[in-house]
Amino acid sequence: MKPAQRIAELRKLISHYNEAYFTKDAPLVPDADYDALVRELKELESHHPELAVSDSPSQLVGAPVSTVFSPVTHAEVMLSLDNVFDAAELVAWADRASKGLGVDSTTLTFAVEPKIDGLALSIRYEEGVLVRAATRGDGRVGEDVTDNVRTIANVPQQLPKNAPALVEVRGEVFLAKADFEALNGHQRERGQKEFANPRNAAAGSLRQKDSTVTAERPLSFLSYQLVDLANALNQDSYLGQIDLLGSWGFLTAPEKSGEVGVSAMVERSTWFEVHRHDLPYDIDGVVVKIDSLTQREALGSTSRAPRWAIARKLPPEERTTTLLAIEVSIGRTGRATPYAVLEPVLVAGSTVSMATLHNQDQVALKDVRVGDRVIVRKAGDVIPEVVGAVEVPGQKRGPAWKFPTQCPECSGPLERIGEESDTYCVNPGCPAQQMQKIIHFASRGAMDIEGLGDQRVAQLLNEGLITDVADLFFLTSDAVAALEGMGELSANSLVANIQGAKDRPLSKVLVGLGIRHVGPVAAREIARAFGDYQSLAEAPLEVLESLPGVGPVIAESIFEYTRDPEARVRMTKMLEAGVSLIEPNATAGVEQTLAGKAVVVTGAVQGYSRDEAEAAIVMRGGTSPGSVSKKTFCVVVGEAPGASKVTKAEELGIPLLPAVEFDGLLLRGTLSPNL
Ligand code: NAD
Repeated sequence: MKPAQRIAELRKLISHYNEAYFTKDAPLVPDADYDALVRELKELESHHPELAVSDSPSQLVGAPVSTVFSPVTHAEVMLSLDNVFDAAELVAWADRASKGLGVDSTTLTFAVEPKIDGLALSIRYEEGVLVRAATRGDGRVGEDVTDNVRTIANVPQQLPKNAPALVEVRGEVFLAKADFEALNGHQRERGQKEFANPRNAAAGSLRQKDSTVTAERPLSFLSYQLVDLANALNQDSYLGQIDLLGSWGFLTAPEKSGEVGVSAMVERSTWFEVHRHDLPYDIDGVVVKIDSLTQREALGSTSRAPRWAIARKLPPEERTTTLLAIEVSIGRTGRATPYAVLEPVLVAGSTVSMATLHNQDQVALKDVRVGDRVIVRKAGDVIPEVVGAVEVPGQKRGPAWKFPTQCPECSGPLERIGEESDTYCVNPGCPAQQMQKIIHFASRGAMDIEGLGDQRVAQLLNEGLITDVADLFFLTSDAVAALEGMGELSANSLVANIQGAKDRPLSKVLVGLGIRHVGPVAAREIARAFGDYQSLAEAPLEVLESLPGVGPVIAESIFEYTRDPEARVRMTKMLEAGVSLIEPNATAGVEQTLAGKAVVVTGAVQGYSRDEAEAAIVMRGGTSPGSVSKKTFCVVVGEAPGASKVTKAEELGIPLLPAVEFDGLLLRGTLSPNL
């Protein structure tokens, strides 16, 4: 395609996207795709200056104002910001600025601030009173949103007496992450459509015809510019101005800082990249500004953006790509999760070629089809997901995707259970489930068995050496060494790692068993309360339900698991293999293992003072009388026991328990050390 043709095409497309984003608050493509188009246009225009025109979207700010609001001509234009996309481009910008000023870049002071993803607003105060508020619009003329801005709780209606008579305070209107979640919660409750992201929700909320609607939205305003229209302030530092705004009651970015020299500035900008998910609001970049207002004036601006400031865009978390296929994977619980196979695309710094589609309802809701252009999102450590399809005008779409009725691994039936939105392979013998169960058992968060990854598990299963997690503990080095690609050394080390996992606390075993609904928190709670697996396996449903952090759903799931014949075989096998199934840090304060039992202690029990031993019994619902009677459950015999107590117990036939078994008694409430 000829450059002139491509330039015309890009200008048309960008203007179309601008209108959707700025005027309708409903973007059609992710920001990164939009930014790439603008970048391409700018490059083409710079290589073909003869094709440059002043009304190209590359030279303009925002979009023309909508007729819904009265127009407001800004006292001073509201510009956009030029972008850079990495540290090298940031350094190049700083070098250009210092050259322009004729100063050494190591002496320049930069303000480094978060670039909140919201929309720009200018608020005018006359004699300290809020008189008007306007959006940026096309930079010259904005939209009058005064009534709406009056409803934003953290915008001061009045400035202190010492403030100049005529100022404009500029900044970003946004929704904090928590407020955005709450707003979407309300939308759900009222059966209304949820907002796609905080930026669109903020823009849509501010640009409402009816200010009572805006008032219901938890908008915030963060200030980052003071326009001193009457030149009343004697302040050359931008950060000084921002402090002043803070003292007048405006919110300013707590993360902002002043940095001297380019390296410190770049380092600080990288801090935002690392910590972007720790901030209470969404940011799409870092803004770097030269602090001195005199230096700013010397550098000036282009028609679109100042030369004294720059936005370092952070790696995009949303991109578009092509959906190549939709497939279904079977997890350890049999859950069938649909996922998208994608044309590989770089998102948030890593290449993504697969993304989750969650469940059947989500695929239907998003209506994504094979061949579609789709938006992929990856934020932080979150698993990449498909957000939805992008409309491509004129494109013929494929048929709607249908959830399979058969398991892709074992051809067993796939079914939806009860009210759940998930679909399950209900064949307990499904090989995919077996494999995922064992992989999960060995994983870091569970038994943490090094060397037992996906491929090794598949090999052990295929060779028939294991069929269940309990079989792992019976593996011998010889059998493992015979596997393809396994030497004697690696077989020994794998078997040693498995044997070493026998002492993992019960909570880790419970996580590893993958009992439905039992996550690490519930597993810890349960393991601490019972101390060992046997007590847990005998606990009535009501006792399980009464545990803190364990609701009826988890309780029932545990109850069913412990009574399941297959699970019984599994756990007995594990005990036979020497897996301890004990929680060392059990408080047993919740599970009353000794309820109603009188336990007499005589002699010194190692690890306990006399008072501590008695308290341990009482905490578990028992009593610890000073003398032996017919009602005594047992006598714990420590070092140098009292002869009379031992004799009395023998006379009455009361069991004598060696002190080394005291811990087991506390945990289980029984005299038998085994199941
Ligand atoms: P911009 O958002 O890249 O930068 C300028 C804006 O940053 C300012 O107007 C202000 O609102 C904001 N900002 C946040 N923190 C700031 C701070 N501390 N100091 C100064 N300004 C701060 O530029 P723009 O002209 O508003 O919009 C262009 C951008 O908007 C694009 O890069 C893209 O990300 C997005 N956009 C997306 C689409 C789409 O279709 N997805 C369309 C148009 C624009």
